[in-house]
Amino acid sequence: MRILLVEDHREMRDLIAEHFVGRGFAVDAVGSAEEARAALPGGGYDVLILDLGLPDSDGMEVLRAAPMLVPGGVPTLVVTARDSLEDRLLGLNEGADDYLVKPFSLLELEARLRAVLRRPGTREGPKLSCGALLYDAGTREVSVRGEPIEMSRRESDLLEALLRAAGRVVVRDILEEQLYAFNEPVTPNALEAVVSRLRRRLINAEAGVRIETRRGIGYRLVAETTAEGG
Ligand code: CA
Repeated sequence: MRILLVEDHREMRDLIAEHFVGRGFAVDAVGSAEEARAALPGGGYDVLILDLGLPDSDGMEVLRAAPMLVPGGVPTLVVTARDSLEDRLLGLNEGADDYLVKPFSLLELEARLRAVLRRPGTREGPKLSCGALLYDAGTREVSVRGEPIEMSRRESDLLEALLRAAGRVVVRDILEEQLYAFNEPVTPNALEAVVSRLRRRLINAEAGVRIETRRGIGYRLVAETTAEGG
């Protein structure tokens, strides 16, 4: 799960980011509306945490722009010091999925965020398949012939990126972006390690797919029956 956090208050931003990183989310944290608009397209975010009081413009403008920057929009949890009922209604009318007034506890923020992510319709949930493998992009459940396969968040992020590419090679940079937040240190072999774990799981589950390496370029997922050569 990937969060874009937009909050200009540095300490609050760090606290929120650390909390969610500790819970296994990838978090990109920015401090202005401009950075948020730049990060949204192609960021692959599952949810946006948006402060309304930003230094360069009102966070509400980011909320209004989001559906134009990301096809289908991004589920959004607004956090703000404004506590009037009018502001709440405005936020919800403009497309926020929930609204949290400061000060709040991190645990409350987490509970609200998980509720937003679970809400039907806030996330596209297409079923992606390859070989005998079925992946639900909404629930992130992986199964082979109806048998669920357990995997880590990074492994399912990787699997989803490869499945979405539908047999095409996905370059390393794109995969690293999908798997790691931009401020997260990525060691040169980190991606290889995740690929290797995912490969093992797919083989053990007899998923009928394999991950091919294009040395120096990236990876692609192919169904074993339609794979070309070795
Ligand atoms: Ca603020």
